[in-house]
Amino acid sequence: MKNWEANIRKVTPYVPGEQPKRTDVIKLNTNENPYPPSPKVTEALREMPTEPMRKYPDPEARQLVEAIAREEHVHPEQVFVGVGSDDVLAMIFLTFFNSDKPILFPDITYSFYDVWADMLRIPYEQQPLNDAFEIVGSDYYKENGGVVFPNPNAPTGALLGMPTVEDILAHNPDVIVVVDEAYIDFGGTTCTGLLEKYENLIVVKTFSKSRSLAGMRIGYAIASKELIRYLNDVKYSFNSYTMNQTAIRLGTAAAEDHAYFEETRRKIIATREQAKKELAALGFSFADSQANFLFATHKSVPAEELFTALKEQGIYVRYFKKPRIDNYLRITIGTDAQMERLYTFLKEYLRKLNI
Ligand code: PMP
Repeated sequence: MKNWEANIRKVTPYVPGEQPKRTDVIKLNTNENPYPPSPKVTEALREMPTEPMRKYPDPEARQLVEAIAREEHVHPEQVFVGVGSDDVLAMIFLTFFNSDKPILFPDITYSFYDVWADMLRIPYEQQPLNDAFEIVGSDYYKENGGVVFPNPNAPTGALLGMPTVEDILAHNPDVIVVVDEAYIDFGGTTCTGLLEKYENLIVVKTFSKSRSLAGMRIGYAIASKELIRYLNDVKYSFNSYTMNQTAIRLGTAAAEDHAYFEETRRKIIATREQAKKELAALGFSFADSQANFLFATHKSVPAEELFTALKEQGIYVRYFKKPRIDNYLRITIGTDAQMERLYTFLKEYLRKLNI
């Protein structure tokens, strides 16, 4: 071993879902939105001047921050933006999780949380979901250095009711509680209404799912002005210019097109509810997802086998070879036509197996 090797920050990185090079696939593996971004985004891109690109972007991304503040009915000083909610969450971990006590999050959850905690040397304890794959509020009553969970949870899709979210907040007045609402627009009610009452709450959201802009990398946090100031101090100590000019412009256009946002999220919700019926009829079971995916297990065919068979047909879903969930597939809700292809293939596959 070389002497310098002992001082390297060695980490096990997060593994994102596959982005196949083939374009003829049905891509239901990374919870992207199957519909294009708002036509207002296309228009803004077409009109985007290139001359200002010789200059640095606005470090405050004020235009985008203000558009989000209007959409969320909060003050612009309560909004922090970043390069996807991954960037926002990483900044939150760095800024607020600095205790010797462990932070708490579910055992089955967004698999980036333990990666950030390991990288930043933050101690953590994972709280097991119950057998119905639900977060148990009382698991978060113990002493801790902070709490983070997605709502709806990922990859289960299960939504925690507002009373339980508030119960967790009420039991954790001395630490920061982060609610990751990446999927909230597909069924739940945002907990931003609790911000006035709980000054230790941070709500994180993204443009990647309900605004069809995963490729632009735009996420944000909403919290008290004080917490947002702390977050910005850390961001400006790290990289002032996280948001590029294109992301600021196009993100603003997306935030301002509320009608399109409503239309596409409603379409996805309707397709998801239909998918629940179709997949249940084929022998699948799943938590009652309120997200843009279903986390499904089949009564007789192992998930890994289905995953491979689907992939061979160019239908990509996500499979996690991990304890408790290695017999589940996470299936992103696509368009109705894409979902029909999925049902047709599954029907035929199960028929051949005499199931
Ligand atoms: N939180 C959860 C629960 C997610 O599933 C994802 C998507 N991978 C993210 C945050 C991050 O999304 P993005 O960085 O695209 O905003």
